[in-house]
Amino acid sequence: MEYEAVIGLETHVQLKTHSKMWCGCANEFGAPPNTNVCPVCLGLPGVLPVANEEALRLTALTGYLLNCEVSRYAKFDRKNYFYPDVPKNYQVTQYDKPSTVNGYVDFEFGGGIQRVRITRAHLEEDVGKNFHFERQSGVDFNRAGVPLLEIVSEPDITSADMAYAYLNALKDILVYGGVSDCDMEKGMVRCDVNVSVRPKGQKELGAKIEIKNMNSFSGVRKALEYEIPRQIEVLSKGGKLVQSTRRWDDPAGVTEEMRTKEHAHDYRYFPEPDLMPFAPTDDWLAGVRSRVVELPLARKQRFIRDYQLPAADAQTFVWDVPLGNYFESVARGSKNPKAAANWIINNLRAKMTETGTSLENLRFQPAAVLELVDLVETGKVSSRIAQDVFAEMFSTGASPAAIVEKKGLVQVSDTSALEQFCAEAIAANPGPANDFRAGKAAALNFLKGQVMKLSKGKANPALVGEILERKLKA
Ligand SMILES: [Zn+2]
Repeated sequence: MEYEAVIGLETHVQLKTHSKMWCGCANEFGAPPNTNVCPVCLGLPGVLPVANEEALRLTALTGYLLNCEVSRYAKFDRKNYFYPDVPKNYQVTQYDKPSTVNGYVDFEFGGGIQRVRITRAHLEEDVGKNFHFERQSGVDFNRAGVPLLEIVSEPDITSADMAYAYLNALKDILVYGGVSDCDMEKGMVRCDVNVSVRPKGQKELGAKIEIKNMNSFSGVRKALEYEIPRQIEVLSKGGKLVQSTRRWDDPAGVTEEMRTKEHAHDYRYFPEPDLMPFAPTDDWLAGVRSRVVELPLARKQRFIRDYQLPAADAQTFVWDVPLGNYFESVARGSKNPKAAANWIINNLRAKMTETGTSLENLRFQPAAVLELVDLVETGKVSSRIAQDVFAEMFSTGASPAAIVEKKGLVQVSDTSALEQFCAEAIAANPGPANDFRAGKAAALNFLKGQVMKLSKGKANPALVGEILERKLKA
């Protein structure tokens, strides 16, 4: 029998705010333990939370970026559980009235565009972090109360690779939108995976198995690559799967059972009495909507469509946004944006890295790139000479035309001059000339090289090839 996997992901993302969700403590990674804490985030009695407005904005912004409905009425709830890293004994979250619902993420996968629907993205608070030492344990509450967004997908994912592609696409969107830095090394993104398998074609879902607390996308992929075949094996041997929670043991490369449904938590949700429901006004939402940016996939598709770029070049400009913006400032007036992209990706970027120069500090205007492209396109300079012109314009800021003029670099297309160079090259190299006549086509390249040398790189290579061939065959 053939089986298929059904996967849904719950992705937790720390929001990029200066302060925590309910107090003024810094939202900052790497501070000494328990230095960014106060009575509110330590859960001391008698304190009251005040919502961080920027976190509310970033939540709504995420809703827009993920094509969700942004709710006009959201509220907060207490999720009760007892664990050392939750000092209040509850976590504030959004239970039945989340801030955003019903969206989707489109991304490239398997040679096409895939869509994963988003059930909801709701706002909550992060918890502290437990540390286990040789003889005792400690809790760092610096992370307690950091605003956290939980993005829940529909079970639209069908493979480990697709889960990986979705997570990367989601991360790119959130980084683009300025919602989160999504730095996985700093634990800013964590993931719970829900996975079940069922016979292909069957409607109802198999027993849902949750893999908790994954902190890397490659870990999610590896866990699924292990877990899906494991479940299929159990079923195909006539076994039964029960709803349960597992953890991924990365060094061992296996998932192992933590608890089954009988031991599931009862969180006893109830409305948070210390916080008003959140009902944003039109003006407030309009302010948020003005922060919506073009998404990475849309940008890539636009670069391919509007500038006829190959996918790889467009992707470069998606990853390097400032370089892509620079390219656009050049390409808008260009007849040949593909050539401009080549110069910017292959020459400009390399030179900038080599010299530690930023785009703001370039000595030449964007239009100079077009001028250079034109000089090559119209045959005024060879592409070899254009490299030298580019190096000069990069270091001095002079215009390409001025450099060509001053240094006498104009390509020689004057046939009488070229005839002369070709005759000289053949006379000086009888060996290769005879080789070519004897049928060794590669010998022509050697002679071409000699002509280029004689012309100091200024000969038009296409014309040189023609003239040499004609002379040698005569
Ligand atoms: Zn605090």
